[in-house]
Amino acid sequence: MRKFIIAGNWKMNLNIEEGYSLGSEINGMINDELNNSNVEIILIPPFIHIAGLLKIIDSSIISVGAQNCHYLNNGAYTGEISPKMLKDMGVKYVLIGHSERRQYNFETNELLAKKTVAAIENNLSPIYCIGETLEQREKKLEFNTNKTQLEEGLFHLTADNILKTVIAYEPVWAIGTGITATAEQANQMHAFIRKLIADKYSDKVAENVRILYGGSMKPENSNELLNCKDIDGGLIGGASLESRSFVNIAKTIPV
Ligand code: PEP
Repeated sequence: MRKFIIAGNWKMNLNIEEGYSLGSEINGMINDELNNSNVEIILIPPFIHIAGLLKIIDSSIISVGAQNCHYLNNGAYTGEISPKMLKDMGVKYVLIGHSERRQYNFETNELLAKKTVAAIENNLSPIYCIGETLEQREKKLEFNTNKTQLEEGLFHLTADNILKTVIAYEPVWAIGTGITATAEQANQMHAFIRKLIADKYSDKVAENVRILYGGSMKPENSNELLNCKDIDGGLIGGASLESRSFVNIAKTIPV
């Protein structure tokens, strides 16, 4: 059985004090209110918050992720953070290929393929993000776009390593826009992704890989999305910056 994941991507938000407050509120609410052993919570803050969060979190179901990493462990790369550094701190997950990094930092599938390997080599689980733009969907290119992003950025991994990876399907037109994919649209893409994994690896591998939905998920729509057969959780941006919304999303996971 696949364990659900509710992951909060804080993006480039919150100062140290605000991050501390949000992290401790979420930790407390999860301890007090979440009665579901089939869920993992991941907080994915800017780098500056990682050490502080790791100190205050005492819930065994919450772990900390990073929003990006380099593909090398060290070197003359000013401004970068390596997967080894993250692992040494106690980070467990790392986002790779978020659409904002593909768009604003020009990250290509080729580069992301190196980052997924580097993360795995450092015992970090990549959360590999894919998703089509509105223009691609309007041209009916959504399936091809997601297939290419998987084939070029992820499918070089072995079956064992794919099982350590989480995939996040995040239609770009739904990120931060308030427009959510319908449960039907989202599940259709998730089923397609799972079929690609089955074709490349095996049915057994496909059955065990977790695929998250991301794009304006909030407590009002999460229940329907999280009840879809192929949706194993959510990657949440805006609604993860408010403890009550984020925890309420986690509470809509089917028990
Ligand atoms: C995201 O940043 O991955 C995301 C899904 O953002 P939002 O929930 O704000 O659409």
